[in-house]
Amino acid sequence: MGGSHVSRCRLSMSGPDKPVVAIPLIDDIEKHKQSVAATPSKRFFDDVLPFREEEIREALKREAKRHRWWKESAAKKMQIGELENSSCIQYVLESFTEARSTSEATEAYTLGQYLDRHGDDSGSSQQNPWDYEVMPNMMFVEQTRVMELPGSSRMGKCTGCSAEGSTHCFHCRGNGQDKCGFCRGTGMKSGVAHPAVYTHPMVASFPHADLSRGYASSSTAMVRHGNNTYGVGTPMYFMSKTGVPPPGLGTHDLCYMCHGRGVRECHYCKGGGKKVCSTCGGSGSVRSFSKLIVQFELEKSDYITPCEVPEMLIRQAESKEIFMEQANYVRPISKYHVKEVNENSRMLCVKHLERVMGKSRVIQQRHSLHAIPLCRVAFSLGNQTGVFWVYGRDARIYFPKYPSKCTIL
Ligand SMILES: [Zn+2]
Ligand SMILES: [Zn+2]
Ligand SMILES: [Zn+2]
Repeated sequence: MGGSHVSRCRLSMSGPDKPVVAIPLIDDIEKHKQSVAATPSKRFFDDVLPFREEEIREALKREAKRHRWWKESAAKKMQIGELENSSCIQYVLESFTEARSTSEATEAYTLGQYLDRHGDDSGSSQQNPWDYEVMPNMMFVEQTRVMELPGSSRMGKCTGCSAEGSTHCFHCRGNGQDKCGFCRGTGMKSGVAHPAVYTHPMVASFPHADLSRGYASSSTAMVRHGNNTYGVGTPMYFMSKTGVPPPGLGTHDLCYMCHGRGVRECHYCKGGGKKVCSTCGGSGSVRSFSKLIVQFELEKSDYITPCEVPEMLIRQAESKEIFMEQANYVRPISKYHVKEVNENSRMLCVKHLERVMGKSRVIQQRHSLHAIPLCRVAFSLGNQTGVFWVYGRDARIYFPKYPSKCTIL
């Protein structure tokens, strides 16, 4: 199927909602229903394209060249007996339909931008997704078009940041500081908390011990002291409590990344604890609108009358189109002389319409009949006899019992 084409959508959207399917208008459904019940039309078909003996012999010679163990001379010597010409018929039905759905989206916007573009109207009137003509770029080719539903635009406060323009930094939970990864929050170069720190009566805290004050993501409890933040149980914390460094510890024992604090500036928010809201870009307001999603879909079904040549081969052969019709709704074929073709045409027409009833609008349908000429050929070669088939307008050969190397050809 043709690649999906998404039309110009100038918006960078965040549409978290699932698309809402728009049920086709009642007029469309009515037309649709009438067609399901419609009576078939009368037509005439010209479908048998007989093969002549010369053509068959040419086809045999061509075929012999393709198989290196067939002798071309054998193809010449072969006696061609009775020919039975007939046709294999392929019926093809295609329905090109359109389904619509909407999905809510928002984009960063300032009120000024909004007024420039939309004026003062609030644009709150209810829109029906089927009110607009949306044309496919090409008929009978699957494609998707996405556009803004006209009149669906409205301004609102950003819910991502409660209109503040910034959000708490997720990584440090707004703290601006995060556990130092180099010392695992201990403040020690060794990565192991120093006993002098957590055994001191004024401190009596172990890093990570105080989970009630800790942060799930970092599991380091932090203490603010003036402008400084320390991890609980770190050498700097000790100093802030006792006014002296932990006994027996020198600067060289401290983690050189956090200098004994056990915490570092959060590199996601650069220590600010807040980030510009990604939803509104910091403006605090967003424009919401509905996206209209139009999906043009193609359903194709076919039926091939059974014959002695395997269907897989018949499908590859060249055929002649003996009938073709395109309409908003095609009517099933009813007067073809092979009743299975009529039956399957009716069955497929109903199936196609039922499948999309109430979900999609039928734009166009087309159906066609293709005749694949078929000839049963009786032959003899020496004292052997058999049958083979010539089929397709490109005169392909099919032996039901593939002749072995030595026997026939
Ligand atoms: Zn550190
Ligand atoms: Zn942060
Ligand atoms: Zn925001």
